[in-house]
Amino acid sequence: MHMTVNFERLKRDLEELGRIGRDEHGGVSRPSFSPADFEARQWLKTKIEEAGLCYRQDGAGNQFGRIECGGPTVMAGSHIDTVPNGGMFDGAAGVVAALEAARRIVEEKVPLKKALEVASFTDEEGNLVGDFLGSRAFMGLLDEKEIRSGRTSFGLPFADVLKKTPFTAEGILSAHRSRPELEAYLELHIEQGPVLEEEGVPIGIVERITGKHYRQCAFIGESGHAGTTPLELRRDAFLGLADFALKATQHVATKHYGSMITVGKAALHPGSFSVIPGRADFTLEFRSGAAESLAAIEKEVFGLAEDVASTRGLTFISRVVDKTTPVVVAPRLVSLLEEECRTLGYPSMRVTSGAGHDAQILAGACDSGMIFVPSPDGISHAPAERVDWEDLEMGANLLLMALIALAA
Ligand SMILES: [Zn+2]
Repeated sequence: MHMTVNFERLKRDLEELGRIGRDEHGGVSRPSFSPADFEARQWLKTKIEEAGLCYRQDGAGNQFGRIECGGPTVMAGSHIDTVPNGGMFDGAAGVVAALEAARRIVEEKVPLKKALEVASFTDEEGNLVGDFLGSRAFMGLLDEKEIRSGRTSFGLPFADVLKKTPFTAEGILSAHRSRPELEAYLELHIEQGPVLEEEGVPIGIVERITGKHYRQCAFIGESGHAGTTPLELRRDAFLGLADFALKATQHVATKHYGSMITVGKAALHPGSFSVIPGRADFTLEFRSGAAESLAAIEKEVFGLAEDVASTRGLTFISRVVDKTTPVVVAPRLVSLLEEECRTLGYPSMRVTSGAGHDAQILAGACDSGMIFVPSPDGISHAPAERVDWEDLEMGANLLLMALIALAA
């Protein structure tokens, strides 16, 4: 059976959704549980119902549209929340493509042997409490303390944010009880990097999703007068951080090629022209596609931090903020997607996802795979985020054919 999506309709949906939360900088600001997010949720609910799918929403606000057949479920989706001043394709493309695929399957009355479900997961972008709130809730992986007493990335107690929504901590914590019998999950997403465009290939088949360690760290030394404390007697926390950041980056670049390490945020204390920094707080993030490398980087990088600290008379402290493990996509999904690409005549290549996605959380329950379409200039999480429509059309057709192969 050969079918294609109705791409004009898909494009229209994406443009409609992209107008919800449009901000004055030309981007889309639609963090989960914002007024724009609630408008987008209503829009999606209507679209799901119009498509003749059975709509449901779980306690975490994850939205689903189901073609009921009993037995195991094949799921496809992504998220419709965005970072503040983000783009209109990250997440939205995957939800709208999954919806369009389901719509075509209904229209053509494709006989299914398994239930097919379109999914949109709450707060993939982690604006509320940690990344992947919705998919983690769906999987029963949330930390109850975080949900009851955590703060959002905008600094508000999450409990206060919840009070202004129809959702509750209890509802979020019990969302996993309504998890269907999952067999496979597929997510179409923009690549958010430059590889496919550089290679001139329209379809990326993800074979790995990198894992991430996220830590809050500090070097602690001693503050002192910037005019009277001789350089050789200082215990300058900033110099510790600078020395460490360079050494650690060089180490990862040479010993763990392809892995990443980033100091994304730093604050010096007391933070003044004329005072030697006595403390440097910073975030440290590292990513790798292999669990062994991630563990090795952690050990080696902290060894370096201790060396720097002892040479410079500092103390190094750190705590884990978040950890995700790398995911290897089920080989059967990678080969299925490659086979469908061959049938459709679409060039494809295997890629690693450096960004995190709901697919990696769902991989804990079922075979979970991803289709990437190129991000021109590698831009995402910004108003200039875009796709070439022809690439997206190919990605959506691939998703449709893969879902039919999995569920029919
Ligand atoms: Zn995304």
